Amino acid sequence: MLNLNFSGLIPTNMEKRGELTLKENLNIIEEIFNQRKIPKEGLDDDKIRLLLKILSLMDTDKDPKVIQIGEREARIASKIQNELVGGFCHGIGRSGNLIDAQPKAPGASIMYALTNKILESFLKNLGLKVNAIASPVATGMSLSLCLSAARKKYNSNVVIYPYASHKSPIKATSYIGMRMRLVETKLYGDAVRVGVSDIEDAIKKEINESNNPCILSTLTFFPPRESDDIIEISKICEEFDVPHIINGAYAIQNNFYIDKLKKAFKHRVDTVVSSSDKNLFTPIGGGIIYSKDKIFLREISLSYPGRACATPVVNILISLLSLGMDKYLDLMKKQKESKKLLDELLNELAKKKGERVLNVKNPISSCITTKKDPINVAAKLYNLRITGPRGIRKNDKFGTCYLGEYPYNYVVVNSAIGVKNEDIELVVKKLEKVL
Ligand SMILES: *Cc1c(COP(=O)(O)O)cnc(C)c1O
Repeated sequence: MLNLNFSGLIPTNMEKRGELTLKENLNIIEEIFNQRKIPKEGLDDDKIRLLLKILSLMDTDKDPKVIQIGEREARIASKIQNELVGGFCHGIGRSGNLIDAQPKAPGASIMYALTNKILESFLKNLGLKVNAIASPVATGMSLSLCLSAARKKYNSNVVIYPYASHKSPIKATSYIGMRMRLVETKLYGDAVRVGVSDIEDAIKKEINESNNPCILSTLTFFPPRESDDIIEISKICEEFDVPHIINGAYAIQNNFYIDKLKKAFKHRVDTVVSSSDKNLFTPIGGGIIYSKDKIFLREISLSYPGRACATPVVNILISLLSLGMDKYLDLMKKQKESKKLLDELLNELAKKKGERVLNVKNPISSCITTKKDPINVAAKLYNLRITGPRGIRKNDKFGTCYLGEYPYNYVVVNSAIGVKNEDIELVVKKLEKVL
């Protein structure tokens, strides 16, 4: 398609040499379109820019001879706006379906389809053989789309929610106007968890009352709240024919969660939602929705009202192309090592201070008890320019996810993917001062 006539401008041997280099560079982009998989090694920013530029030049708003008489013609005030959306001013989707091709935006439509393919290959490399879509909205809003699809497809009218105190999934439910039935947590040693039999009871009660429940379970959460037992829940959902949506906000960065997902997918999991920023190093504002059920995934995309901004999707594509699989696997490995370091340092500190590191299964975050006011401790850390730790009082029913009184005040520290070991060392040093 690109037919560039260089002949006669410079000596032929130099022209050939130049063409060879150009071809090698373009090959990298050609490979992305041919393979439609996450590259093993990441691409440099220039190649990614070129790829996006090629695609965006296919959209009708870039056609130099276009005649535009629609009410929506991707007219923009400033070129800055074009840059911010990766060149895809027409956005993605066709009103009423995100994943349908947009006639005014063939380039953006290819970009979106390509992103989803690359996302699927990324998840497959992690061991999850699923269909996936990059969502233009973050985790909470993506959960709303999933719940809306469950209501449409399965007539779900109540969301059974093993209590986890994050406002996003709770608001995701109220936003679409579904009733929520909470299932209370219990204390298992230090860990706060929802009993599987209590979830089963809640399902039976709703079915007995002639309702159609669906389950919104939580895979990733702050300790002491442990992951829901998504494997047992997915078996129960299979038995009772109940839709099962999993909030896996930061699940795809650690094999502890991925292994659970793999096992749960053998039973009833309708869809999983993960955050693009927590797992894939994008700015905040996108999600990843994945499922074995391609038809249900389409139903989810149908539940989105209207066209969407391309930026969150472009950001996911940029991350996947820029990181490449090798770098991501390396980051996962480093995350695991950082968590180990965090636990070692916290245990040393706990010994010195007469405190405890809570015994809770969590591959990302750890808790240390404190006799001081944990809110005060967190405020001091914030003023020491540390972001991320949470200080929770034992009587904070929301913070602890426990409706009784939790045995300890504590501070939560995270070693999520991308964390630097030096930051872990520094935060524990500062904790030593303020605990
Ligand atoms: C981060 C997170 C969310 C939500 O986030 P968004 O801001 O909607 O992306 C929801 N639930 C849990 C458990 C989270 O950790």
